[in-house]
Parts: sequence; structure tokens; C-alpha cells
Amino acid sequence: MAKRYLIRGARVLTQDAELGDFDRGDVLVNDGAIEAVGHLGEGIDAEVIDGTDRIALPGFVDTHRHSWQSLIRHVSTDWTLSQYFSGVRGVLGKAYEPEDMYAANLIAMLDALDSGITTLVDWSHNNNTPEHADAAIQAVVESGIRCVWGYGNSNDEWLPISSIPQSRDVVRIAEQWFPTKDDRVTLALAPRGPQFATEEVTLQDFALAKELGIPVTVHTGDGVWGKGLPVRWMAEHGLTDEHTTYVHCCALADEEFDIIAATGGAISCAPELEMHMGHGKLAALRGHARDIPTSISIDVCTSVGGDMFSAMRALLAGSRYLVNLAALERDEVVDPLPLTARDVLRDATRAGARAAWLADKVGSLTPGKRADVILVRTDTWGMQPLNYPVGAIVESGHPMLVDLVMVDGEVVKRDGQLVGHDFARVRQLAETARDALMQRAGVADPGLWQPAVYENR
Ligand SMILES: [Zn+2]
Repeated sequence: MAKRYLIRGARVLTQDAELGDFDRGDVLVNDGAIEAVGHLGEGIDAEVIDGTDRIALPGFVDTHRHSWQSLIRHVSTDWTLSQYFSGVRGVLGKAYEPEDMYAANLIAMLDALDSGITTLVDWSHNNNTPEHADAAIQAVVESGIRCVWGYGNSNDEWLPISSIPQSRDVVRIAEQWFPTKDDRVTLALAPRGPQFATEEVTLQDFALAKELGIPVTVHTGDGVWGKGLPVRWMAEHGLTDEHTTYVHCCALADEEFDIIAATGGAISCAPELEMHMGHGKLAALRGHARDIPTSISIDVCTSVGGDMFSAMRALLAGSRYLVNLAALERDEVVDPLPLTARDVLRDATRAGARAAWLADKVGSLTPGKRADVILVRTDTWGMQPLNYPVGAIVESGHPMLVDLVMVDGEVVKRDGQLVGHDFARVRQLAETARDALMQRAGVADPGLWQPAVYENR
């Protein structure tokens, strides 16, 4: 049963345009919701959480992560996108057992919570049997995170260009796991989309989302795979609407951003991964220019780390790099800089909530919304003296500074430690699963493995 908490005397960055920021403010949480924010005075009956030397802000929203890959963290850090298809899709994905999905998702969600991500769109695209999907969802539910669980088919259904029809197991999943659409964990469809499946299969996949009344998250515009005008094709077939979030968008044409803006869609940028793997130009500037909600995501933890602070920095620096480089080539100087720290912090919170179809529930510290709140320490060597809290969060934030995490009014991290989860147990679960997986897949040393490029493009 969620209690009444009063966070007292924090720097509050509400991410609510009306409320703004407070140099020293309070956040009152009652029965899972935010009751009041501001200078709340004395005599409030609630458990007090001291906000001194803490920045309070809404929990981060990661709008696209393939959490099942957390068991194989960092194996592809030095791989190309093509090697990723060969190694992760061609070798490892199909070797997963249901218990691997459980172990991977559990450690993924706890890692996310520990780093201040309170909502995650789990892009689950390795559901090789119904038992795989059940195990993945079970871990999400147990973790305590807020999650939009995106059903994304099986490993075999993902080898491009797929002509394998939708299994429709998601119909069973919707009935069994998601009888109501208002829980902490909800359902979306994560179809293969026009880049990875035939037109016929793509139309079937999207029709199923309509049938179930669930939103869609789809990869578009990733590298050479994404240059074939996938969003224009979707628009021509009536598949673009406000219930669709477009992942990456780096290689899309300008007219496709216009389509996303005109049809009320949202974007998910995975900036660090996109720069590593050659997806194209980061989409944030083209998204912001059209007022498209432009959120931030982690994508594959086989290559990159899983925290939002790093992702915000990658997006800010990468976007500015594009503009600065182009200006330099024209012998010009950029002024003012495009994209601000405040922009990317909003992308990581409020825009994330919009891209996860939860704008009325989370994403800002607004009275009436669900209480997903984090406190970040500022009494550290790297944060003092504190001059500009927004800049400090974006440029010097890291998971070890996340002192308190609250999801739906429940404290899931306190005094820098996750509550109710045994690190040693989860670590052993993950290591044991990883060892067995690598043995089944025939990978002797995942740290030295260099798969061949994927040929079937
Ligand atoms: Zn992805």
C-alpha cells in the first residue's frame, strides 16, 4: 500500500511548463500520486524524505530497449550493425531459453531502476515460444518498474526480409497478462515494420495492433536499411497515427518527419548506439524543428550502457557535433548552439512519457500524475559548487548519484540501494544463464568474438 511521503527542501526540476523549477521546494506524494509541488509549509502529515543536497525530478523514460539482451551485455561493443545481425540474431537469439529471458529482463529492469529510469518501453523481440514471452513479462512485473512491454515476435521472425506471418501469440498474452489497460505494466506491439518484413506481413502485423487496440513502436530510418522511405510507405497504407512511435529515424527523408509531425507520432532516438553503428544523422534536431515529441532510448545493451545520463550527453553532444561540423566546413561559426541541456532533459522525461503513450500519467512532477520521482545527489566532488542544476544533471549525472527512486508512489531505491532485491542472487541467476547460453550457442569467449557480416540484406 503506497504511503504519504513529503520530499522536503530539494532543488525541484518539475518538467512541468507551468510549474517550472524551485531552488528549494517540496514534493508531496499520496497514495501513489503527486498531491502537491512547491513551498508546502509545515504541519503536513507524511513521512519526510530530506531533499537537502538533492535534485528532485521525474523518473527518466527509456522509450526503446531490447532488455532481453542484457544477458549478453557488451559483446557487440566493437561490432558493426551487420555483425550485430549475424551475432545476436543469427547465433545468440535463437539459443535463448525462457529462463534466459527472465534473468535478462530482471537484471535489465533493476539496472534501469537503479539508474533512475522509472518507465521503460521493453522492445521484446526474442519471444521464441509462448514460454519465452511469459518469462520476460514475469521479470518485468517482479522488478517494480513501470513498463510498456512491446511484443516483438520471435528471433526467426526477425531475420530480414521476413515473410513469416505473425504468430498471434500476443492475443493470448493480451488476455492473460493485460486484462486491463491501466496497470503499471501495459502492452504495445513492436512489429518488424516495412524495413524488416514483407509488405504483406507488415500489414498483418499492424492490423493486429488495431485489433487489440494497442499502440505501436517501430524501427524506421536505421542506416542503409532505413533509406527506402519506410514512413512514406506506412503513410500510404494508413499506418501512421498518434499511437505510433518511430525508433531511430536517422536515415529518414525530411518529408517523412513532416508525416510524423502531421499525424501526431513520436520519435525515439538512441543516440549513442546510432553513432556507433552508422544509423545516420541523429533525429533530434529535425524532430524538435517540427515539435515532434523526441524521446531518448538506450536500444541494445550488447553495445552500450543502460543509463539515461549517458544517453542525454550523447544526444546533446552528437546533435551539436553535426551542426558544428557542417558550419566549420562552410567556414562559419555556430551561434547560438542548437539544442540545450534543458531540451534533452525534457526529452528524457516529458517527451519520453508522450512517446510511451503515458503523457497523462508520468513525465513531469505535476499534481495528479502518478508519483514516479527520483532524487539525485549533489553533495559530491563532481557536482559542487552547483550553479546550473539542469546542466549538472545532464553533464555530470551518473547512476551512482541516484539516491532515491519512487515508482507509482512506492520507494524502490533508498539511500542509494535498491529495496527488496538481492544483488548477489540476481547476479548469479544472470551469470548461470549466460554461461549456459554461450555453451549452447558455441561461443567460447564472447569478449573476443567477431562475427562475419550479415549477408542477406
Ligand atoms: Zn532497436
